[in-house]
Amino acid sequence: MCGIVAYLGQRRAQPILIEGLKRLEYRGYDSAGVAIRCADGMHLAKAVGRIMMLENEAALRSCDAGTLGIAHTRWATHGGPSVENAHPHTDASGKLAVVHNGIIENHSALRKLLEQEGVVFRSETDSEVLPHLFAKYYRGDLAEAVRQGLKEVRGTYGIAVIHADNPDALVAARNGSPLIVGIGDGEFVVASDASAIIAHTTRVVYLEDREIVTLTRDGFSTSTIDAVPTSKEIQEVEWDLEQIEKKGYAHFMLKEIYEQPESLADTTRGRIDIEEATAVLGGLRAFAKELTRAKRIILTGCGTAWHSALIGEYLFEDLARIPVEVEYASEFRYRNPIIEDGTVVVAISQSGETADTLAAVREARNKGALTLGIVNVVGSTIARETDAGVYLHAGPEIGVASTKAFTSQVMVLFLMTLFLGRRRHMAHHHAVNIIQALTRVPDQVRDLLKQDGHIEEIARTYKDRENWLYLGRGYNFPIALEGALKLKEISYVHAEGLPAAEMKHGPIALITPDMPVVFLANRGLQYDKIMSNIEEVRSRGGRVIAVATEGDEEIGSHADHVIRVPDVGESLQPLLNVVPLQLLAYHVAVMRGCAVDKPRNLAKSVTVE
Ligand code: GLU
Repeated sequence: MCGIVAYLGQRRAQPILIEGLKRLEYRGYDSAGVAIRCADGMHLAKAVGRIMMLENEAALRSCDAGTLGIAHTRWATHGGPSVENAHPHTDASGKLAVVHNGIIENHSALRKLLEQEGVVFRSETDSEVLPHLFAKYYRGDLAEAVRQGLKEVRGTYGIAVIHADNPDALVAARNGSPLIVGIGDGEFVVASDASAIIAHTTRVVYLEDREIVTLTRDGFSTSTIDAVPTSKEIQEVEWDLEQIEKKGYAHFMLKEIYEQPESLADTTRGRIDIEEATAVLGGLRAFAKELTRAKRIILTGCGTAWHSALIGEYLFEDLARIPVEVEYASEFRYRNPIIEDGTVVVAISQSGETADTLAAVREARNKGALTLGIVNVVGSTIARETDAGVYLHAGPEIGVASTKAFTSQVMVLFLMTLFLGRRRHMAHHHAVNIIQALTRVPDQVRDLLKQDGHIEEIARTYKDRENWLYLGRGYNFPIALEGALKLKEISYVHAEGLPAAEMKHGPIALITPDMPVVFLANRGLQYDKIMSNIEEVRSRGGRVIAVATEGDEEIGSHADHVIRVPDVGESLQPLLNVVPLQLLAYHVAVMRGCAVDKPRNLAKSVTVE
């Protein structure tokens, strides 16, 4: 999820690695570490917090001459931010060091196996299985050991590996996590991000998935993990630093919208048991009994997280058959809520630091509720103060307006629905259908993003309008709220989200030809009712933008603009419908000249009540 830098050459590795880590600071990270190979062995330094803290580490200062090293900025997924969990991780001898980005899916099984063989683990990370696994296969040839080890690994990784006995070799590999080899004059800089390389060279080789590179002082060679040699073309990086940080996107928000196929896949990675047709949520296992017997669930959050809570209410009640209430965290806290035996309070927060949500957690805990967290930032306050929880694994989100964290929150709520539902009323075949549908979502989102140009055109038509309405029913009502919130947050246009049927009880008075109305009009149980609502708007001159099901021919004659989404069941529609609305808000904001990533008056993590 975060950053790797590695160096092999003639210069001192340490300043190059530290400088490279500083270039990766923009991603937001929680801890960092460096391993440098020196004549007297491996020197390791780790620190929580800023890279500056790392520079002060005595271990680094004592290793002046090393010209081979690896470094890491961590954005924790497994185990909180701490010195023990920071990378690099080493084998038992301390000679083999590894930095890893990504998630090892089968880390529990590998850990168990290695423990049976006598390995003692020193961290809670998924990553630590790697050095032990490579050490097991190490017979002097580092690349071969890495190759053998990786054959047993499932999951995503970008890794760099060095060994104290091999002063002339650096091995790196990737699968689903970026890794770039910078080729300088008699030196190599490997990094997860070109920003850490371009100060030294613009000539790079991009590794492919399941590809491994061996760098020596004489050159480099690449092969697949199955030892089939590959040939690589050296390319020129043409982007400047700012473009690289945003991967060429104009804003972090757009980058994060486009990352959703991957972030959604990461959220479900290693968490689905297809045999049992359920979700494997390690954090909840210890509380499975209490959750099975829960009488009532209260979902709480603020802003976008409150919208995902509303979707959770539909999911838990509809599919897992548990009574649910959704509360604004700020209101919950001061309302003197009634917490009876069997009440579970689930707090949702991207940062895990939202003050209102934290206060709600404390109130619930004081009253004896079991508290769970759904947060993105591992080791954050809400993660620590709840009894258990599920991390999003969405990766760092930098844009202030939440996009990929929102879809991952909904995905986690789906996983929890499976976890709870299968322990209660949900039939095996029903759960299998849900799982199959969920696994298609990342590709469906990827396809949806291809309509970006069409959505941009719609934005251009309405960019100067000052009032918008967003309407949806059932599962799509929270998406109407979320669509409106995105537009408000970043374009400063007034927008309101409503259950479609509520329009006639008041807001219909607002409708004029100046009012764009976004309808979530997928085919499904409420389709006919939505069509009537569309007509009510049209007959008053309102302009209709409909998000509708692929293949729905009818909608074209009722709406001014149609955005097509795949035909999925009601419960899955929110995950897809929200994507075009994120893009719509984004384009309107850009066209109005707004600071998309840092909207006025807003902060990424709201730590005041
Ligand atoms: N999953 C690993 C960990 O939690 C790597 C996280 C990262 O990519 O920074 O340590």
